[in-house]
Amino acid sequence: MQKLPIVNGLGFYEIRMASIGGFGANVAGKILAEAGVLKLGYNGSNFSSYGSEKKGSAVSAFVRFCDPSMAVRVNSPVTEPHMLVIFLESIARHPGMLSGVGPDTTVILNTSMDVDAARDYLGLACGTLVVVDAMKISIEEKTRVNTALLGTIAEVSGFIKAEAIKEILVETFGKKYAATVPANLKTFERGAKEFKMKKFTDDGKYRPQPFSRSGQKLGYLNQPIGGVIVAAGTSMYKDLSSSRSGYIPVLDIGKCTSCGECDITCPDYCFEWASETSKKGKQEQVLKRIHYQYCKGCLRCVVICKFEALTTHVESEVKKSVIESGYVNDVKEIK
Ligand code: SF4
Ligand code: SF4
Repeated sequence: MQKLPIVNGLGFYEIRMASIGGFGANVAGKILAEAGVLKLGYNGSNFSSYGSEKKGSAVSAFVRFCDPSMAVRVNSPVTEPHMLVIFLESIARHPGMLSGVGPDTTVILNTSMDVDAARDYLGLACGTLVVVDAMKISIEEKTRVNTALLGTIAEVSGFIKAEAIKEILVETFGKKYAATVPANLKTFERGAKEFKMKKFTDDGKYRPQPFSRSGQKLGYLNQPIGGVIVAAGTSMYKDLSSSRSGYIPVLDIGKCTSCGECDITCPDYCFEWASETSKKGKQEQVLKRIHYQYCKGCLRCVVICKFEALTTHVESEVKKSVIESGYVNDVKEIK
């Protein structure tokens, strides 16, 4: 068993993964922990935290490894990671994302940016930054980003051996989805090769973000009186675009009959309607557009549409103007 490359004061190598539901961070954490403990002989643990709605809500997965002679008596979230894996560019700038990242941290970001642009995008003060276009790999291999990121993790960690992860991958996917194993192994291998890495020292360009525990803001002296809503919300700011896994529905308005089936099926009220007067002088509801801000890319609307007015496309290949307008008059306008 290889010695862990670096450990904290309690003797642990710690990994934090940041994602949203549907991208497989929880499964990736389990696979990593099983590979390290069952195949490589470390002691360790993993757990995830996520909200009630699985797809679209924030997910954090945590993995710890230590020497097998040590007991794992720490079960709190990882606050100062040796490795931080960010599953989506769209969540990379969320407040606190880089909390606890230091010069010894390796940050892996799923992005198509080059490593210098990614540093600026993140505002990373120091540490090793690894960029990999896991979304592109997963779209091309028809898999998910987690397997590509596992390949990158194996390669850059220096101690979580690729063979161990591949064995667990085969055991995990082989049970329920045996047909997906070859594509997942290929995705893993591409993730292990198709990344770029660069070490940054603290040159003063960005402020380091050490972990700090925020104290309790409200107590018996200052709590608001009952019934007061101190943080009012509105769905205007709801944005599910980061939940999408690379695909979107596109509405061909010329084929749409405004039958309304998609609207009934959509879980997130993405379709915008308008009241119009028909040629016969009747008032009718007409489908106008998709609001992509609210669309999490489940593609249920594409399945339900009998008129082929909704079709699936790779989001990065769809023109920005189409996403802004929410519809096309002709399929030729899509790319
Ligand atoms: S299901 Fe298809 S035809 Fe019916 S309203 Fe939706 S897009 Fe239009
Ligand atoms: S893919 Fe279709 S059904 Fe799913 S959220 Fe987007 S618009 Fe709604």
